[in-house]
Amino acid sequence: MLKVQNFSYHNHTNFSDGKCSLKEMVEQAKKIGFCEMGISDHLIVHKNIEQSPSWPKLSGRYASTVYRKDFKKCLPEFQRHCEEIRKISKQEKIKLYVGFEVDFFTYEGWLEELKEFLSQLDYDYLVSGNHFMSNEKGDTIINIDCIKGITDTIKDLPEYIANHFGAMKKSAESGLYSFLAHIDYIRKLGDNICGPHQYVENKIEVLKVLQENNMGIEISTKGLRKINDFYPCSEILDKIAELGIKTVISDDAHNIDELGSDFEKAEKELTKHNITHRLKF
Ligand SMILES: [Zn+2]
Ligand SMILES: [Zn+2]
Repeated sequence: MLKVQNFSYHNHTNFSDGKCSLKEMVEQAKKIGFCEMGISDHLIVHKNIEQSPSWPKLSGRYASTVYRKDFKKCLPEFQRHCEEIRKISKQEKIKLYVGFEVDFFTYEGWLEELKEFLSQLDYDYLVSGNHFMSNEKGDTIINIDCIKGITDTIKDLPEYIANHFGAMKKSAESGLYSFLAHIDYIRKLGDNICGPHQYVENKIEVLKVLQENNMGIEISTKGLRKINDFYPCSEILDKIAELGIKTVISDDAHNIDELGSDFEKAEKELTKHNITHRLKF
């Protein structure tokens, strides 16, 4: 019988943009037989986020709980969130890890600020989840979810996309992250801008840096819900197998119904691609 991964390290609560409370997510995890779970709410801090060309669309969505411009200001909230997870982990009969899905930004000073922030946080792991593209200096960012309709206005789109993959590489080089989320998230923009066969070299470069830095990668069933395919696509899964990068199945659940969803399909996909090196804390 197929053995299916019975834990998830990438999911969200209503601390960021999830629909359910931490308690509801934990209850569901126990109900579906998870042995452990990591909570990885968003940590997205960029000094110029409000000047982003995608901000008008972005600001309506969870602006106060997801998108932030100042590390120091949001620290107390994040500290309380970590405490809450530790408390519930003690009460419930399931091991909980405290994680965060962190967008990596590249402007001068950002990494030092992140490290200072993390030094004051009782957390276990970070997921590199990158939802933005940026200019070379990293001081202008554009959210991929909010780009539909404005792609024509971005003159240097290929450069912005290349920098998006560049940020993933730098996140791996930082040594702060456990695994990379949705490497080809950008496929959301549609096949005419970034289909599975475009930017393949950029993705492979990212994989090589993951391997060099012993960082893992996820296969995400969220792709099935968004673009009817896994993140990453088949071609990249073959490369992951070849490079022996440790892989974890993620649901990127934003509500209880998404927790553990399509894990059996993901297991079969990993088997199909001969991916045997798996990530478990
Ligand atoms: Zn994400
Ligand atoms: Zn996520």
